[in-house]
Amino acid sequence: MINVLFVNICIIVTFLYFSGVLSKRYSIGISSISLPVQINSGILFGIYGIVLMLYTIPVGPNTYADLRHLFPVVIGTYIGPVPAIISAIIIGIGRMMLYGFTSSGIVACIGIIVVGFICAIISRYPWTRFFKIILMNVLSMFVILISLMINIKDIPTVMSFYPIEFSIAVIGGLFVYAITEYIYSTNKLFVQLEKRATTDHLTQLNNLRSFDVAIKTHLAHANQRGETLSLLVIDIDHFKKINDTYGHSAGDVVLKSIAKILVDYSRSFDVVSRNGGEEFTVLLLDCSHHHALIIAEKIRVGVQNHSFILPDQISVSITISIGVATYPDTVAVPTGHALVDMADKALYEAKRTGRNKVCSLELELVN
Ligand code: GH3
Ligand code: MG
Ligand code: MG
Repeated sequence: MINVLFVNICIIVTFLYFSGVLSKRYSIGISSISLPVQINSGILFGIYGIVLMLYTIPVGPNTYADLRHLFPVVIGTYIGPVPAIISAIIIGIGRMMLYGFTSSGIVACIGIIVVGFICAIISRYPWTRFFKIILMNVLSMFVILISLMINIKDIPTVMSFYPIEFSIAVIGGLFVYAITEYIYSTNKLFVQLEKRATTDHLTQLNNLRSFDVAIKTHLAHANQRGETLSLLVIDIDHFKKINDTYGHSAGDVVLKSIAKILVDYSRSFDVVSRNGGEEFTVLLLDCSHHHALIIAEKIRVGVQNHSFILPDQISVSITISIGVATYPDTVAVPTGHALVDMADKALYEAKRTGRNKVCSLELELVN
């Protein structure tokens, strides 16, 4: 029996590792989990429970011992009530399908569904994950004891193996907790690091690294599909004065407000980045040069008309200069370097000729 329960723990650990790899994609532990992901994880953990039952051991007439209840316990602890109930129902149905629709099968099925509901209720309390997992596990084992007693009807027989099963379930639960915590925390760290590596911490826009990746990818797409790609390079006029007059933190507030304006004025699939200091870019996907100039002008006017409220409630006005370049309208080669270079030159022109304006240059044929 110990051998089989050991195999059960090994299978659970393997499944948990696999789920950890999957959950990384859905930022589980970082952001709120959508209902479809909750439902899918419930189904997945239900299937795990059915697989585990293939490694079950008979402990009485039509009665089997394994650690299947740990799946609703884990999913309830780490994700919530919905997957706990779904996984338990799937395991219950699987139990009857694998070992027959007998009276003991029905008792086992009802037992695991009750376990699912217990896990669902406990999962909603603001307790620590450690406490929840222990409580769910112990209460589940109590439900399993009642099911065994109903099925076997012979208390000495049940008591001949139940203490071992209970001990292994408790040890297994602790083991599962340790493994899941490890996967959970490394996933969380991974998602945080990934976000930090691609996001500007002040404005939450894309940083230069993401911009470089995005421009390369979108230029390749534009080139393949015969689409246009426009780039706006935006620089705040006389930004140094804001810092010098009102302080660096006031400058930061302005940078955040500009970022918000840029996001508000662009479409959801455009790529808005802070490329460094007080320089921003907007990659306008499938957007002609003519249209990009219109959008750039809207942004310029939007910033000009915006009242920037600084930390000490002082309101200031700010202007920006924008350089616009478009592949293939004003830049012949589909390289990020050529597009950025052209937009930078246009920005320089805007600065040179008085600031607070949108500029673009004519097509240059670059080899
Ligand atoms: P121009 O119109 O020619 O662009 O003038 P400018 O003053 O905006 O340009 P300049 O390059 O002289 O100054 C940019 C300033 O941006 C200098 C720097 O202190 C400030 N800056 C860069 N990064 C940050 C930041 O993260 N926060 C704040 N508050 N200021 C920053
Ligand atoms: Mg600058
Ligand atoms: Mg500037």
